[in-house]
Formats: sequence, C-alpha cells, structure tokens
Amino acid sequence: MADDMESWQWQLAHRITTVDELSKHITLTEEEKADIAQSLSLFRMAITPYYASLMDKDDPRCPIRMQMIPSAEERIRGKFDLDDPLGEIKYNPAPNVVRRYPDRALLLITMQCAAYCRHCTRRRVVGSTDCTISQEQLKQALDYIEKTTEIRDVLISGGDPFILPTGELESIIAKVRAIKHVEIIRIGTRVPVVLPMRIDSELTDMLKKYHPIWVNTHFNHPKELTQEAMEACEKLADAGIPVGNQTVLLKGVNDNAETLKKLFLGLVRHRVRPYYLFQCDLSVGISHFRTPVDKGIEIMHSLTSSISGYAVPKYAIDLPAGGGKVTLGYDYVVSKEDTELVLENYLGKLYRYPVK
Ligand SMILES: *Cc1c(COP(=O)(O)O)cnc(C)c1O
Ligand code: SF4
Repeated sequence: MADDMESWQWQLAHRITTVDELSKHITLTEEEKADIAQSLSLFRMAITPYYASLMDKDDPRCPIRMQMIPSAEERIRGKFDLDDPLGEIKYNPAPNVVRRYPDRALLLITMQCAAYCRHCTRRRVVGSTDCTISQEQLKQALDYIEKTTEIRDVLISGGDPFILPTGELESIIAKVRAIKHVEIIRIGTRVPVVLPMRIDSELTDMLKKYHPIWVNTHFNHPKELTQEAMEACEKLADAGIPVGNQTVLLKGVNDNAETLKKLFLGLVRHRVRPYYLFQCDLSVGISHFRTPVDKGIEIMHSLTSSISGYAVPKYAIDLPAGGGKVTLGYDYVVSKEDTELVLENYLGKLYRYPVK
C-alpha cells in the first residue's frame, strides 16, 4: 500500500516541493527556475504527483501550471493588496473560528493542504506551519459554537480538512454534530481536484454517519475534470452528500466564458453544482490573477444566456474588511417605470412586465 501510487498517502509523501523535482516533470528555463526558487520563499510549493501529471510539459501558460507554480509576479505588492483581505482576524471570536454572519461559522481545523494554490486567499497563514487544531483550541472553538445558538451552519475548512486521517476528522465532525442547534455541516476541500484518491470508502462511510453533510470543492479549469476527479465527486454524491463547487476567476487560467462553460457543464454531468464564481480577492501577491469586475459580469451574462441555471454559479466578491459576500450579475432590467419594467431576455429582446 505504502508504495502504491494510487494511495493518497503515497501522493502526499511524494509531493513536488523543490525546483529540481519540478524540472523532472516539466521543461523549465534557467530564468524560470530562478524565479520559482525566489518566490517559493514567500509561499511554499507542494504539488501532488497526480496533479503534476496534468501539466503541459512545454507550455508555461498551462492552467494547471499557473495554479501551482510560483511566479515572479507574486513578489509584486499590488496597489490594492491587503494582508488580511477578508478581515478574518477581526471576525475571530474564538480560536480557529471566523464568524461573519449570525447563522454561519467557519471552523478552520488545519493549515495544511494537499497542494498549495498560488491564488490562495489564506496564503498569509496556509502552509506556513503544517499544524492541525490543538485539542485546547478545538475545545474553545466548540464551546463558542455551542453557546452561540444562532449558528446553524458550520463550515469546516482550513487548509484542507480532508488531509486529516479519517479518525481524526471524524472526532471533530462528531463533536460539531453533537451540538444541537447545528443543522448543517459543510466541508470545504480541494482534495477531489488535487488528490482524488483520498475520497475512498473509508472517508465516505464515515461522513455519511453525520448527515446532513455538504461538501464544497474548488475546480477552476476543465483540464481538472479527469476520470479520477469525477469519480471522487460521484463517490461523495453516492454517499448522499450534495457537492458544490467554488471557482476562482483567474486571469489567464479561466477568464473566458467558453472555458467556464465547459467546466460548469462538466461538473453538472457528474452531479456537482457550481455554487460560487469568486472574484479573485485582494490577498498580497495575487494581483496578476485579478480580472476586472466587468469581465466577470460579461462572463456571467454569456453563461446565463446560454446554459441551464443549474450550471451557472453566483458571481461573488468577498468584500474586504469582513463585509461578507455580495453577488453581482448582468442587469436584465433595462428600465423601470411607474407601472412596468422593461426586461431583456437571453436573446437581448425587450419585454414589458407589470411592476405589481
Ligand atoms: C463564505 C463564508 C460563509 C458561507 O457563506 P455562504 O454564502 O452561506 O456560502 C460563512 N462564513 C464565512 C466567514 C464565509 O467567508
Ligand atoms: S486548497 Fe484552498 S486553502 Fe489550500 S492552498 Fe488551495 S485555495 Fe488555499
């Protein structure tokens, strides 16, 4: 088992973390190597052999490469960049808990991920130390959730919760589930994308004991829709877990309607519901990934007018300073009169509709 490339433990143990290892998988110029080495010190690199196998060996613009390989641009501090873009420090009522809405809380249980995404919102903390929540921190976090009876939805995230051994993860989920007012448990994970072999029956058998459990994953490009990844999502769905997807809109990776259409339709075919399309946030060192907001709205317009609502996520900006998420879209209201709205349909034709 330990030497089995199909095992998730093997994949984690053999992650690519240095320029030398990386150059065995893809073609790199000396200049690229130097750049990678320099940016590596700002935010670590770790790529599972599985995910690296999806990379184009010769194309530096390959969307898989761009999501995982450090670049010179990461050393630029953009004009609008913020150290704590989502104000998570301020909204931290207990250790490892972020609460921005009365009825929902985020519980961060590890800072480790299976692979480190260059566009990570939490790059400030993720991967900096490979540590999991301590028993004492967990106790304080759970005490907070327990005494805050408005919380009915707990999002277990990190880092990546599915990186934990199943037993360890179960002991956390069981404790959250034991809190009476917690109706829904959600888990945020990129494991189906970068380490799909981790979604095994041991994990799904454990998860389904604690329903209702929802999982949100993070596919960004149709190249990621491999047979292994789709099987991972289907195993979750077969265990009765509704699977959603959050995509980050990334310049040069997926910032066009055709690519996203392919991605979202592919996900729906495998029972994954596109949930959010996020505007790239204001974390330091990722300004090169940011697209203009108008671009996102234009993409949403194109998607909404050509594919089913099931395949169209909400386009959202996670506001700075902990303002929460707002969703944006194309405005189909052309004008509003006293008694009538003028609305544009998906073909651009105009219709009148009474206001009341
Ligand atoms: C995104 C987020 C949530 C969940 O928001 P939904 O719109 O319900 O998916 C909850 N808490 C925090 C802090 C978040 O960032
Ligand atoms: S998996 Fe999520 S938390 Fe981990 S590096 Fe990627 S975006 Fe960040």
